[in-house]
Amino acid sequence: MGNGLLIVISGPSGVGKGTVCRYLLDKNKEISLSVSSTTRAPRIGEIDKVSYFFTDKEQFEKMINNEEFLEYAYVHGNYYGTPKKNVLEKVEKGQDVLLEIDIQGALQVKEFYPDGVFIFILPPTMEELKKRIVNRGTETEAAIEERFKTAYKEIEYVFKYDYAILNDEIELAVKRIESIIEAEKCKVKRQIEIIKDI
Ligand code: 5GP
Repeated sequence: MGNGLLIVISGPSGVGKGTVCRYLLDKNKEISLSVSSTTRAPRIGEIDKVSYFFTDKEQFEKMINNEEFLEYAYVHGNYYGTPKKNVLEKVEKGQDVLLEIDIQGALQVKEFYPDGVFIFILPPTMEELKKRIVNRGTETEAAIEERFKTAYKEIEYVFKYDYAILNDEIELAVKRIESIIEAEKCKVKRQIEIIKDI
């Protein structure tokens, strides 16, 4: 059996990538979500080892030194990282694994694993993105402005990705990602063994 797909999804803050990923995983139970480690505190409703592996800074830095991460990044004052072993083992067994990570992390994965599928989620317009950040209602005026400025810069990174998905409507966005996955699986380089057996 060939390798599974390593699917990396990222995009600017507020673009709705979490919702897109949840919807995609709900519809496609065979895709496994990589659970990240983080030093940020759990939010209400989050479960350790399911939402994240919640850990402290000391432990996280130990894991960095032991090269246990496929990638890691410092985002909004906290560490986030993808445990390497678990992800690579699954992919090698032929399972598709989804990583929902920030842009810095995605670029590190691309260096280490260029065979991954790199997908960037775009907002329909920048006005809409601002509306979504404001509608979250969890932040102050200054924090919203800061997030929006960051998001504006982050959009530039779309050119480093393989695919750009417009998140205008959730069902459509997910359908587009499903088409990408299907097409990636049909690539000749991923079917060498099957072709040999024909
Ligand atoms: P949150 O704190 O809202 O769960 O996540 C904040 C940001 O961290 C999001 O952009 C999310 O995609 C990103 N993130 C979550 N896990 C990882 C990870 O393992 N690595 C990296 N680089 N970013 C992550």
